[in-house]
Amino acid sequence: MTEQRVILIHTKAPPKPALGATCNGCGVCCLAEPCPVGMLLSLKRRGACTALRWDDAAGRYACGALLSAPWPLKRLMRRWIAAGVGCDAELEASAPGKP
Ligand code: SF4
Ligand code: SF4
Repeated sequence: MTEQRVILIHTKAPPKPALGATCNGCGVCCLAEPCPVGMLLSLKRRGACTALRWDDAAGRYACGALLSAPWPLKRLMRRWIAAGVGCDAELEASAPGKP
């Protein structure tokens, strides 16, 4: 049985791409549940990661933990959160009233 969850997302967020496609910063994964780093920062296992930030200029979400990490940690952080490897979220997103 498919689990359904409601997430609040920015109206300008791009639609979630297919699994494996280039990450477009839609934010669905981090709004559904934090990654291991996000769990530590958010002190929770479900719900939106508190480190997620909306970048209005870029029109996409970004990882605040990665943005604020000191330079030597950034590379490690990118591996921890699997940044740059394509969308790894096996989630399907739909807006209310849309299939
Ligand atoms: S990895 Fe997350 S933010 Fe990136 S496209 Fe997939 S669901 Fe969206
Ligand atoms: S990638 Fe960043 S914003 Fe997303 S869940 Fe992990 S720590 Fe939070």
